[in-house]
Amino acid sequence: MASFEGNSGSPLHVLIVGGGLSGLATAISVSLAGHRATVFEAAPQPHPFGSGVVTCPNGTRLLSRWSVDAVGGSPDAGNHTPVAGWQVCDPLGTLLGPDLMIAGNGYTKKPLQEDSQTPWTFHRANLQLALLRRAQEVGATIRFNSRVTGLDDEDDDAGVTIKLESGETHQGDLVVVAEGTNSRLRSVVLDQPVNPVATGYVAYRITVDRSLVHDPALVDLMESAGIRTWVGKGSYVSAFSMRRGAQLSMMVLIPHDQLLQQGATITPAQELKDYFKDWDSLLSSMIDAAQRVNKWAAVHLPVLPEHCSLQGTCILVGDAANTMSPFLGQGLSLDLEDAATIGCLLGHVQDPSQLPAATALYSRDTKAGTAVDVGIRCQTEQAGQVEPNLQHVLHKQVLANDLHYRKGKVGYNPAPRG
Ligand SMILES: Cc1cc2nc3c(=O)[nH]c(=O)nc-3n(C[C@H](O)[C@H](O)[C@H](O)COP(=O)(O)OP(=O)(O)OC[C@H]3O[C@@H](n4cnc5c(N)ncnc54)[C@H](O)[C@@H]3O)c2cc1C
Repeated sequence: MASFEGNSGSPLHVLIVGGGLSGLATAISVSLAGHRATVFEAAPQPHPFGSGVVTCPNGTRLLSRWSVDAVGGSPDAGNHTPVAGWQVCDPLGTLLGPDLMIAGNGYTKKPLQEDSQTPWTFHRANLQLALLRRAQEVGATIRFNSRVTGLDDEDDDAGVTIKLESGETHQGDLVVVAEGTNSRLRSVVLDQPVNPVATGYVAYRITVDRSLVHDPALVDLMESAGIRTWVGKGSYVSAFSMRRGAQLSMMVLIPHDQLLQQGATITPAQELKDYFKDWDSLLSSMIDAAQRVNKWAAVHLPVLPEHCSLQGTCILVGDAANTMSPFLGQGLSLDLEDAATIGCLLGHVQDPSQLPAATALYSRDTKAGTAVDVGIRCQTEQAGQVEPNLQHVLHKQVLANDLHYRKGKVGYNPAPRG
């Protein structure tokens, strides 16, 4: 049963463009705040693609709070795997220090033991299904095969109107653009073009089935439910098991100075094997067991001038609004925080005339979060050029926690008004 976070007068109708993880999380949070949410997703069905995603404790807590974990019990839904440890190694696999699940929690120095306090891993497709089901359970409407091609929030009295590829139009009080990094409507919301820029890294993603793994050390890693990260030579590798040990996800970032075409391409595993031939042999075992290797140019967004339109009736969320440093593992968690912030603010809105004040607060908070990230990004990317060390990794972790605590003031403890 839905538990509502807010107490609004007459419910607003919130139109959400994009049914990825951010759009669906926003639909949950908006519905729990007592408003009506309709999600328009271009794809005909939830994307079955992708590999592993991680929520850090700030994201995990939100999923628990929204009871997304509760729908995870069904065989094809959530399937979250609580992370048992997080070890950082040098290229040869030598541990650089104590487990981050203890030392990384710099405020308490205690192990992160409670399920809802630990990072969780998911296959992205499972998390999307779990969010979808929870969004429907709390009353949101999800429309697939519904690509949005235009929006108009010029006329104050009519609210905001979106236009679909089919020619249909829909009116609402607020539009949330959750189109992902390559958002087209972002430029309409901000009234200026904003395009992603190359980070200088190429990213690879690999999924490994347990049934194809023969290296006992790799079996151990999968069964331990830990995250293992290797840093060195300007590169970064992270591997963790998902689907409760049935699969392993590996993410690789390698410096790259050439422009790659946008979007993922399937690439021969040999390319990665050659790069990692002098690294920990566990990496070669993973690459050997891979069914396919996806490769794409890692991009990020410049800091946006605002995250809402001039009229305050359109906002940007998720990858359409900001991209985190690819080294932090915070991207998804911050997207969930933004979704929570929207729900929290809308919980205080009882009339569409109050929307501009709420969306201005959202924009200010999201911009501040991005500014902190840019600080981290500069440090991590500079550090990526030299040999990273544990101090550096811990520093990132503490900064990430800082960001979480700061944003927590807005995002976690809504006190409904009225
Ligand atoms: C297919 C896919 C696979 C991914 N795999 C991984 C992974 O394995 N690991 C990982 O860490 N991250 C992955 N990501 C990225 C990750 O999901 C995002 O970084 C993060 O979850 C934030 O998501 P988002 O909802 O803001 O954007 P996205 O995940 O990009 O979702 C945007 C959604 O909006 C829809 N859309 C776009 N434009 C329109 C429009 N005009 N009208 C209607 N719908 C529209 C898209 O179809 C998509 O579903 C993947 C993303 C996608 C889309």
